[in-house]
Amino acid sequence: MELRFTKEQQELQHAIRQFAAAEIASAVPMMESEERFPVDLIRRMAERQWMGIPIPKLWGGAGKDFISYIIAINEVSKVSAAVGVILSVHSSVCTLPILNYGSDQQRQQFVRKLASGEWIGAFALTEPHAGSDAAAIRTSAARKGEDYELNGSKLFITNAGAAGVYLLFAVTDAAKRAGGISAFIVPGDTEGLHIGKPERKMGLHGSNTCELHFEQLRIPAEYRLGREGEGFAIAKGSLDGGRIGIAAQALGIAEAAMLLLRKRLQLPKGKLLTHRHAELAELMARTEAARLLVYRAASLRQDGRPCTKEASMAKMFASDTAVAVTGAAVRLLGAEGLSRDHPAERLFRDAKVTQIYEGTNEIHRIVISGRLMK
Ligand SMILES: Cc1cc2nc3c(=O)[nH]c(=O)nc-3n(C[C@H](O)[C@H](O)[C@H](O)COP(=O)(O)OP(=O)(O)OC[C@H]3O[C@@H](n4cnc5c(N)ncnc54)[C@H](O)[C@@H]3O)c2cc1C
Repeated sequence: MELRFTKEQQELQHAIRQFAAAEIASAVPMMESEERFPVDLIRRMAERQWMGIPIPKLWGGAGKDFISYIIAINEVSKVSAAVGVILSVHSSVCTLPILNYGSDQQRQQFVRKLASGEWIGAFALTEPHAGSDAAAIRTSAARKGEDYELNGSKLFITNAGAAGVYLLFAVTDAAKRAGGISAFIVPGDTEGLHIGKPERKMGLHGSNTCELHFEQLRIPAEYRLGREGEGFAIAKGSLDGGRIGIAAQALGIAEAAMLLLRKRLQLPKGKLLTHRHAELAELMARTEAARLLVYRAASLRQDGRPCTKEASMAKMFASDTAVAVTGAAVRLLGAEGLSRDHPAERLFRDAKVTQIYEGTNEIHRIVISGRLMK
């Protein structure tokens, strides 16, 4: 099997690469120093239909395939992993689940504005005592006549504050644990939704990560996504795609670090295998292997085939590779690599989180080995 993009995919890749080199790169210093969400940049991406790449034209998107979308995250993340995660969360775990599980009324009301980029999307599952064990969430949703009333809090929510729509998970039947969780579409301006202060993170500066608090937040019952009790299955199904997005982000970080090494490192001449030759060969092979895993998982997802194991493998391997390659870049570039003015330092900080979010790599190792035993 050879990995070859179609002409249309290559054209998109080229367009995004050019945009990233010019426009995203020039926003990075502001995002790094001010840790501010890049509103104008996202608007310019939206004008190019890139906030709705895998969404059908019928619902206001660009009508491209899932692989095109993964190419976009990969290219964007080579220049800014923060913009990569903004795009990934918006598309994979907010817009696509509403498209896939929503009614036509919900698609009309929410997907169109998400796909056009008029609204940014967010995904709110994690709570203080429920990260890896997501079924332990406690945010409650109680039916009150024609409405649901939500109470509780979430934390570490990407795009919080900037989002026009939150896909939010809450407990409708506490006795059933995972089977008692439901999904809700919550407009960002709903009364009772409070955005906490942004987390000051080690990396991904410019991508908002905040707590959310809900106090007697009321939404109409028709904003529930899917059936009551189907929320956990919706979250899990959406996270398969989300993980491929994060894998593509991690791959972009690793590729950017490899490029730095290629440009800056001198190898000893001759045929003698030195430690440095061996290390670079290893890093390059790992990066290429990550690329194959990412696009293999994306291709399964695009064909609508099961891809839980492949998405986990891609996410685990690409993120471990990103950490290994960026760590090597900082070390091999010496003091220069540690400078706050050098991209290696930022790539190193940005790489770390890819091992943690959308399921920690320990959890992915459990998922993958569990599949092996089946
Ligand atoms: C920058 C950032 C953005 C995020 N964005 C979002 C978002 O948009 N929406 C959202 O809902 N969440 C988001 N998260 C939350 C993220 O998904 C969680 O941080 C992640 O699932 C891990 O949960 P936790 O932090 O509670 O760690 P824990 O689950 O408490 O894990 C702590 C450690 O224990 C290990 N561990 C846990 N369980 C096991 C086990 N069974 N076996 C072995 N080891 C285990 C973990 O691997 C980890 O090393 C984000 C997090 C970050 C850092």
